[in-house]
Amino acid sequence: MKRYDRRRRGVFIPPLLLFLLVLTAAAAAGGFLLRDGAAGKSDMLSAIPAPGGDRPGQQAVTASGIPCTLTRLGEEAVYTGDLLLVNNQILYHFPEEQELVSIYDGKTGSYYVRDTEVYLAPAALEALNQMLDDFRAQGGSKTVNVVAGYRTEAFQQHLFDQSVERNGQAHAEEFVARPGGSEHHTGLVVDFSIFYEDGTSAEYQGMGEYAWINTHCQDYGWVVRYEKDKQSLTGIGDEPWHFRYVGIPHAAVMAEKGLCLEEYTDYLKEFPFDGQHLAVDCGGEQYEIWYCAGTAAYLPDSGEYTVSGNNVDGIVVTCKVG
Ligand SMILES: [Zn+2]
Repeated sequence: MKRYDRRRRGVFIPPLLLFLLVLTAAAAAGGFLLRDGAAGKSDMLSAIPAPGGDRPGQQAVTASGIPCTLTRLGEEAVYTGDLLLVNNQILYHFPEEQELVSIYDGKTGSYYVRDTEVYLAPAALEALNQMLDDFRAQGGSKTVNVVAGYRTEAFQQHLFDQSVERNGQAHAEEFVARPGGSEHHTGLVVDFSIFYEDGTSAEYQGMGEYAWINTHCQDYGWVVRYEKDKQSLTGIGDEPWHFRYVGIPHAAVMAEKGLCLEEYTDYLKEFPFDGQHLAVDCGGEQYEIWYCAGTAAYLPDSGEYTVSGNNVDGIVVTCKVG
């Protein structure tokens, strides 16, 4: 169904002139990198300009024919977007303003929410509605209860302190994210519980009828963020109730390749603008994805695209093709 392959590198205008310029600049800088072309074929080599050698306004066309312009974005671009990696080592950069909506106000009738004070980023809520509407449509019950969404830094501090008080410092450090280290700060995360009609509740395990959600969530841009076999990378054990929105098509690629967000963030760096791009065929749409180190990124001159920082050192551009 889904197909992922690497695209050959973008073609520059004028390609020969740019290549010579890069070659000259790289030689002046004491060397340059040469990278193998598509799928290891040696007939295609492309020069990767040294970081910092970019010139805003510079234009280029990608392999799919998308005209782009190198655009200098503010530093906040690295710390904004659906692909932010947040963990106890890479803390969330709290913005001055964050767009959030109450799930209670915006949800459909297919599920419950704990109360009126559970918030999400608008795109995440829309994707949540679609996923749980489809879950219901294919026979799932209306028992999914969203018990957590966005968390403030102060609330995470409260959770951490509470855990220290109840179970000690060591336990808290192992099981509770430190303030700033919780993905919930992004507004792109929900925790599910089960709420039965008779008023009782149960922990959400993603099993039985709910397995549909955990196996289809990537079609809606969500991933099961913490899985047991990735604990050494994420620092968090199995949490089948914790879903992270990364958007389509990233969730599909992560699921297909079995990558957690720590791994996926690194994987995307294999697709710099001046190298091969990641081509994704997903849900009837085609996407071209590339990574730009730093705060300058090649952005499409037109068309539908999204930009997200990785919360570390660069920006990912995801563009619909056609
Ligand atoms: Zn959670």
